[in-house]
Amino acid sequence: MNTPPNNQPLSGNAMPRFGGIATMMRLPLADSPAGLDAAFIGVPLDTGTSNRAGARFGPRQIRAESALIRPYNMATGAAPFDSLQVADLGDVPINTYSIEKSMPIITGFYARVLAAGCRPLTLGGDHTIALPILRAIAARHGPVALVHVDAHADVNDEMFGERIANGTPFRRAVEEKLLQCDKVWQIGLRGTGYAADDFDWPRRQGFTVVQAHEVWYRSLAPLMDEVRERVGSAPCYLSFDIDGIDPAFAGGTGTPEVGGLTVPQALEIVRGCRGVNLVGADLVEVAPPYDPSGNTALLGANLLYEMLCVLPGVALR
Ligand code: MN
Ligand code: MN
Repeated sequence: MNTPPNNQPLSGNAMPRFGGIATMMRLPLADSPAGLDAAFIGVPLDTGTSNRAGARFGPRQIRAESALIRPYNMATGAAPFDSLQVADLGDVPINTYSIEKSMPIITGFYARVLAAGCRPLTLGGDHTIALPILRAIAARHGPVALVHVDAHADVNDEMFGERIANGTPFRRAVEEKLLQCDKVWQIGLRGTGYAADDFDWPRRQGFTVVQAHEVWYRSLAPLMDEVRERVGSAPCYLSFDIDGIDPAFAGGTGTPEVGGLTVPQALEIVRGCRGVNLVGADLVEVAPPYDPSGNTALLGANLLYEMLCVLPGVALR
């Protein structure tokens, strides 16, 4: 008995790429994670932003730019839709007036997705959302390894007196024992600090901090070899703040810092996650009001596609 074919992105030969409803990659919109291997989910929360707001519009703009993406990965050979059932689950209905009330809404949404055996790929939203997502992930899988790409460590104890904000999620994640701290990499950190020892706190937790200037002009493939070896079979989460990439390529974001990663380095990081047990991933901090060309959202959309391409079970052609 033949099983029905998996969902496919709507072809540009069936409907022009500028036409139709703008779901992620023009996949079907689903209202349940049942039967899905992976799903794209938007979390339009930006009230945790410390500087330029606008990431609430990220999911919608990433979906619009994703209309250009075709199914087959011509660099890696990945053919995600040949082997996985994938859909767009729409947006989490966060409470835009209350971060506190939004946290359990997000965690509950992801708990239902994970309970269905579906791997979530998240369109942010600001980086605050990594905390409620990691709460759901750890409740399902236990503490996880983490690959965190960012200009910032996001380990502040508080911001303006608040413990939940876009610069605090990984401090809270450590406190709540959501992470395997000896299997955490923070890649792309840079810029100016509030204190000279800002990056020492994550190092004291056991994180590996890879500052951007340490890897300028260099391939990140060797680093990712180390990541895969040390992560081993542990469940691993990938949290990708678009501001890890240089603002020359991704200036449409809330807290830009000069001297960042290049686009090929970003691709090496995501592609280097193939072979780990990736239980979920996010792409956060795309702020369309600062992205008049759409390039930042386009890059975000492509990185989310690359994340899909490295999920366990994706066939190579
Ligand atoms: Mn961040
Ligand atoms: Mn950042």
